[in-house]
Amino acid sequence: MAHEAEAPSDIPFGPEDAPWQKSFSSLRLVRGMPRVSPPTTDPRTAYLSVPEVPFAKVQLPPSGLDPRQYAEAEALFRRHIDTQTRDFAGYQVTSDLNYRERLGHYLDRHLNNVGDPYQSSSYTLNSKVLERAVLDYFASLWNAKWPHDENDPESYWGYLLTMGSSEGNLYGLWNARDYLSGKRLRKHSTGTRALSYERPLRGEGQSPHAYEPVAFFSADTHYSLTKAVRALDIDTFHYVGTTRYPAENPLGPGTPWPTEVPSTEDGAIDVDKLAVLVRFFAAKGYPVLVSLNYGSTFKGAYDDVEAVARTVRGICAEYGLDRRPVYRHRGNDGGGDGDHDERSGYWLHIDGALGAGYTPYLEMARDAGLVKEAPPVFDFRLEDVHSLTMSGHKWFGTPWACGVFMTRTGLQMTPPKSAEYIGAADTTFAGSRNGFSALLMWDHLARHSYDDQARLAVECHELAGYVHERLLDLQDELGRDLWVARSPLSLAVRFRRPHPDIVRRYSLACETARVDGTSRPYVHLYAMRHLTRQRVDDLLRDLRGPDAFAR
Ligand SMILES: *Cc1c(COP(=O)(O)O)cnc(C)c1O
Repeated sequence: MAHEAEAPSDIPFGPEDAPWQKSFSSLRLVRGMPRVSPPTTDPRTAYLSVPEVPFAKVQLPPSGLDPRQYAEAEALFRRHIDTQTRDFAGYQVTSDLNYRERLGHYLDRHLNNVGDPYQSSSYTLNSKVLERAVLDYFASLWNAKWPHDENDPESYWGYLLTMGSSEGNLYGLWNARDYLSGKRLRKHSTGTRALSYERPLRGEGQSPHAYEPVAFFSADTHYSLTKAVRALDIDTFHYVGTTRYPAENPLGPGTPWPTEVPSTEDGAIDVDKLAVLVRFFAAKGYPVLVSLNYGSTFKGAYDDVEAVARTVRGICAEYGLDRRPVYRHRGNDGGGDGDHDERSGYWLHIDGALGAGYTPYLEMARDAGLVKEAPPVFDFRLEDVHSLTMSGHKWFGTPWACGVFMTRTGLQMTPPKSAEYIGAADTTFAGSRNGFSALLMWDHLARHSYDDQARLAVECHELAGYVHERLLDLQDELGRDLWVARSPLSLAVRFRRPHPDIVRRYSLACETARVDGTSRPYVHLYAMRHLTRQRVDDLLRDLRGPDAFAR
C-alpha cells in the first residue's frame, strides 16, 4: 500500500483542495455513494507537472467546476497555450490558424464521414461532398488521373484521414501487404466468393516466398512505419535476414544485418545500398515493399523517388516480380482456372507527411522562376508510385491531426466486410471519420490559390535559408562547432541541442544521432509559415546567452 496514513478518499482534489469524497454533487442515490472508484494515491504527484497549469486547477471533481473555477482553469490553460503557440518553432506544423470566425458554427454540428468517400451514406450528417472536392484537388496536384471512377483502375482513389500520416502509412502498408500477399483486389470482389482473406494459389515453379512481402525503409524513417509493420505483422528485411539468412548480409558478409536501409549524411535513402538489399530478397522470390520519405522527419530530406522506382522496378523485372499472375481457385486441370489477375510484385509507398503538401508549390515557384530549384518528383507522374500520404496539419495547418491517403483505384483491396449498417463500403481504416477535418482543408484550399501557396512556399524556403545562415554566423561568432546543417531544400535546420529552457521555450524537437562513432544530441527548427524572422532573432539572442550550450 502506498499511503497508509492518508485514507485515499481524503486526498485533496480539484481547485478547492476538498477531499475527493466530499466533492460529490447532490445526486441522491438509494444506497449511498455512486459506484465509482476513488483515487488510490494523489494524482497531483503521480504525473509530471506543468508549472503554468497546476493540475489542482483542472482536476475534474464529480461535481464538475462552477463558473468561477472553470474561468480560472481555462484562463490558465489558454495563457499557457497562447505563449507556446507564439514561440513554437521545432516541428513541421503550421500553427497560425484562423478558422474560428468562419467555421466556429460547425463546432456545434456533428460531421462524420464514416465509410467510403464516394458513396453517400445513410449517415447524412457528413461532409463527404467537401471531402471529394478536397481529394480531387490533391489528385490534380499530385498528377493522378481524376475524377475517381470505380471502373477505371488508373483513376485515383483516396480518403481523408482521421489521424495524420501515421494512419496513411498504416493504411498504405496494409493495402500493400494484402496486395503483395495475393489477396483479392476490390475490382474482382463481385460474386459470391469475394472473401478478403482468401489466399492465392502458388503457381507452378513459383518461389515458396512468392506471397511473403518484405519491407524496406531507411534509417531516417518516421516511427509510425516501425509501428505499422509491427501492428500489421509485416516482415522487415532485417527480420527475415536475421532469422533466415543470418550470415548472408549482402552489405557486408559476416556483419549483422542493419535494422533499416542506410541513409546518406543528408538523410535520404542510400539508393545503391537499397538496391543491394532488394536484389538479395527479390532473387529469392520475396515481393518487395518499399516505403520512402518525402520530407524525412528530422532532417527534412527527400528520398530520390524516381531513382528508387527505376531501380526497384529493374531489379524486380529480372526476377519476374514486375508483373505476375495471381491465381485464386484451382481449375479442372489443376492449374489456375482463369480467376486470376496480374499485378506487380513490388509496392512503393510514399510518406509525404510534410513534403507532399509543400513541394508541389515549390515546383510551381521554380517553373515560374521564383526559386532556382525544387526537390525531385515524387507523385503519380511516376507509374511505380502505388500509394501516397500527407498530413493536413503540417504544411496547410489545421488545429488537429488530419491528412490525405491516395492510391490508384485498381490497387484497392477487397474490404474485410460489407457494411450495410452505414450504407457505404467500409474501404477506410477508421469506422467513424472526422468530417470536420474535410471542412478545414476545404476552407483552406478555397481561400488560397496556387499563387498564394507558391508564395508561401518560397517564403518558408527563404526563411529556412535565413535560419541556416544566421546559425552558421553564430557558430563562427562562438568559435564552436554547433553542427549546423540543412539538407537540400529542407525546411528543417538542425544544430547542437541548447539548454533545456531554450528547448522548451521554442518547442525544439530533439534527436540523438551517431556521427563518426559518437553520439550527438541535436535539435531542429522548422521554418513554417507562422515563424517570423523576429522570432528567429529572439532564438538567436537566447542562443548567445552564456549557458546556452553546455561545455
Ligand atoms: C509527421 C510525420 C509522420 C506522421 O504524421 P502524423 O500526422 O503525425 O501522423 C509520418 N511521416 C513523416 C515523415 C512525418 O514527418
